Amino acid sequence: MPKTDDRRPATAQPSTRIGYGFDSHEFRPGIPLKIGGITLQHDKGLGGHSDGDVLLHAITDALLGAIAAPDIGALFPPSDPKWKGADSVIFLREALKRVDGAGYEVANIDASLVLAAPKIGPHAVTIRTRVAELLGVHSDCVGLKAKTPEGLNLDAAAIAHVVVLLQKVRQKRRRKKSR
Ligand SMILES: [Zn+2]
Repeated sequence: MPKTDDRRPATAQPSTRIGYGFDSHEFRPGIPLKIGGITLQHDKGLGGHSDGDVLLHAITDALLGAIAAPDIGALFPPSDPKWKGADSVIFLREALKRVDGAGYEVANIDASLVLAAPKIGPHAVTIRTRVAELLGVHSDCVGLKAKTPEGLNLDAAAIAHVVVLLQKVRQKRRRKKSR
């Protein structure tokens, strides 16, 4: 029988875990553009799964990947009409619940967005602040870069790459009395 580490004792869990998430959505006219939980003014939005929030989807998958949980498509199938137009914050919260259940918390994340328009720079602080709030970290722990898809012929799509670092929750959460 092949050896598995599924029964590894909790004490042997690594102190940090890394996760990676990728997502892409196609621009479509006449729908709102949501990126990082923020609605941006633009003549097109991102179609597909739920509200099409490409950044929150990639963050969600990075969190799930870090704890080797099923991915966003497995937990929230795009084929299920229940998730049509859904707020992607729901997916992120589920991933965070699982991270917490596994005994970890977010240390920091770093994200790269690839899209031709709109410009992300003017909205970067707002997006980072919102994402930090959702993740329960300081906004200094949310990196966000935006690139245009030079030479990729991908002007009709938005892409997000995210890496996340989790750290094991220390015993600090145990209630401390008379301090
Ligand atoms: Zn997506």
